[in-house]
Amino acid sequence: MIRTDTAVIGGGAAGLMAAITAAGSGASTLVIEHMDRVARKLPSTGNGKCNYTNALQGVSFYRGEDPAFVMPVFAQFGLPETLAFFQELGIRPKERNGYYYPSSGQASSIPEVLCMEARYRKVSIVTSCVIRHIRKRRDGFEILTDGAAYFAKTVIFATGLLAAPKTGSDGSAFPLIASLGHHFVEVVPALVQLETGQKILKGAAGVRTEASLTLQIPPGEDVADVFPERGELQLTEYGISGIPVFQISRYAARALAQKKQVSVEINFAPWALKEELYELIGQRFGRYARGKTSAEAMTGLFDRKLNAVLLKEAGIGGSFPAEKVGAAQRRKLCAKIRHLRVEIVNTKGFSSAQACAGGVDTAELYAGTMESRLLPGLYFAGEVVDIDGACGGYNLQWAWSSGYVAGRHAALRACGKPDPGSGQKYNDLQKKKAGET
Ligand SMILES: Cc1cc2nc3c(=O)[nH]c(=O)nc-3n(C[C@H](O)[C@H](O)[C@H](O)COP(=O)(O)OP(=O)(O)OC[C@H]3O[C@@H](n4cnc5c(N)ncnc54)[C@H](O)[C@@H]3O)c2cc1C
Repeated sequence: MIRTDTAVIGGGAAGLMAAITAAGSGASTLVIEHMDRVARKLPSTGNGKCNYTNALQGVSFYRGEDPAFVMPVFAQFGLPETLAFFQELGIRPKERNGYYYPSSGQASSIPEVLCMEARYRKVSIVTSCVIRHIRKRRDGFEILTDGAAYFAKTVIFATGLLAAPKTGSDGSAFPLIASLGHHFVEVVPALVQLETGQKILKGAAGVRTEASLTLQIPPGEDVADVFPERGELQLTEYGISGIPVFQISRYAARALAQKKQVSVEINFAPWALKEELYELIGQRFGRYARGKTSAEAMTGLFDRKLNAVLLKEAGIGGSFPAEKVGAAQRRKLCAKIRHLRVEIVNTKGFSSAQACAGGVDTAELYAGTMESRLLPGLYFAGEVVDIDGACGGYNLQWAWSSGYVAGRHAALRACGKPDPGSGQKYNDLQKKKAGET
């Protein structure tokens, strides 16, 4: 049996961060990765540029059953520590509208520097290694793989959930985690495209336009606290995509999983008040009509394909003379521009998702250390935990921060060093809230 202080299961963003931190804190550290190499997801992040954090931070960018769980984690390793950590490893930050990327313009720089640092810290990395069982022993954990058997004083699960499973996060760790007594909040895709039931938008496939979106569950009841979301909307053959869609998608996915009716109301003119839009349409179909058809009167307002969809929805023929469109029809056209409702029937699924919502229940973890409340010596980091971030570098920030905290505290325990137990105060508060003592 090969012995180590700390074993990290999963060599993605959170796992590599945890391993580097644990090794840097004095623990002999092993990463067990079931793919042929570590960090297969990172090179495709941020459209190949890796948006590794964001200048704007706060609990409002994180979701889960208990989003405040992130606070003691970020208090130990937040944005300044992340920027400093990567700068020391060689990543020069390039900031655009608060989004941070490596100045190399290559996402692959991030896993490259992480692997160099892991090598420098003498982290052992075993790849193509499938874990069969993991058992708690009195002073640690026995990990049986299809190759060697390992004994680790502390274990960190950083296995991700189900987003982009081809990169390795395929759910194969779920039974191992469950066998240790932990429970999952149901896992659904997040940061994902949405499929619409109707054919309304098909005619405008390929159009990218500014819009604001309001998720409605069930129809008529807005989820008022987080929406509407404004940004560049992409209309596609199957439905809707783009950053504002990603931002609302985890709520849509959760509601769909609960068999609720889900729809999205699109406002294609978020830049105009209701009366301003009516005046604009009034001019185009009145004073400035100049013998134009209705399609011609809309030219220059939205993409031609989108104009045709909106006119059709308002019941106005494209070749109908613009000046003959009456007040009621103009109002209907304005209503369609501001409130086009599309029914959502599905997400594009885990294979297209950039992240997942759900995961290991945070009520079973200490936020200050990322340690299990059920089994001392067992830790979790990254997406596998029931915390997901908004689009914009927040999921990687969570991976770095929770990886650091899990790695540090797992190493302290494994090496028998005193652990100041950061965040204990928060944990105690949580306990009090739950009426435990
Ligand atoms: C296309 C795409 C673009 C993205 N862009 C961004 C972005 O720009 N900014 C941002 O913040 N976030 C982005 N994300 C999200 C971000 O990449 C993830 O949230 C983050 O990588 C999660 O890190 P993790 O280490 O927790 O999990 P993962 O990166 O999923 O790593 C899990 C690791 O565990 C391994 N593993 C799984 N099961 C086992 C097992 N049973 N045994 C051993 N090993 C196992 C996997 O092979 C993998 O190496 C993007 C995601 C995708 C898919």
